[in-house]
Amino acid sequence: MSDPLAQARFDVAVANRILAYEGVLDAFGHVSVRHPDDPDRYLLSCSRAPELVGPADLIEYRLDSTAVEETGSAQYSERVIHGEIYRARPDVMAVCHHHAEAFMPFVITGTDYVPVFHLGATGGAKPPFWDQRAEFGDTGLLVVEPQEGASLARALGADHMVLMRNHGVTVTGASVQDLVFRCYYACRNAEFQARAAALGTVRPLSPGEIVAAQKIAAGPTGQARAWERWMARLDRLGAMPREPGPSRRVGFRPNPSPGR
Ligand SMILES: [Zn+2]
Repeated sequence: MSDPLAQARFDVAVANRILAYEGVLDAFGHVSVRHPDDPDRYLLSCSRAPELVGPADLIEYRLDSTAVEETGSAQYSERVIHGEIYRARPDVMAVCHHHAEAFMPFVITGTDYVPVFHLGATGGAKPPFWDQRAEFGDTGLLVVEPQEGASLARALGADHMVLMRNHGVTVTGASVQDLVFRCYYACRNAEFQARAAALGTVRPLSPGEIVAAQKIAAGPTGQARAWERWMARLDRLGAMPREPGPSRRVGFRPNPSPGR
């Protein structure tokens, strides 16, 4: 793809739609990507339902979460989550904040997430919790102040996911595709973990299994296959962005070898 910015806009619009149609986002929650040409900026939609986000809705933000150009559109109040994580973590290229149903029992009870199947390893061995009240007292639980976003980023540390007490989850990725993969399969893992706990004793993966499974999940083969499936499902539903975009398959390195 000759225009990395157009590709990034298209990918993040599609990522919003995939995560909405796959049950991770509803009316709320959002996905961003670091600007491909300027690591001190990121792209996030104006305030609208994720399943409707198109490439033209994306606003360019500085890391302090001020818009580079005022568009007049309403903005997400929790955009500091994205800016402060990009500021704290140069390796992070994409961020999603969500309140997925699968995770709400975890963040309400303070139950640790543990990988219970191989794809669940992508969520991390034991992602940290963040308690907004511990540092900021009684709030409306939205993360709207830069210092709140910075505190969340500190709690995230070097992990890929942080659970937010009585609120939701924030997830990071090395690319938009990596992010969507992690959001989706961490939600599946959370569902399986909760259902398994109702049946009997939960047996998590071993630390060695988690590392090995994470390595596989971070590779392009599985991520490309999952992305292809999710794109096909959007297509069948007539839910792809209508605005012209670049080729749907670009943005991925070609598979190094066939199969798997
Ligand atoms: Zn939220």
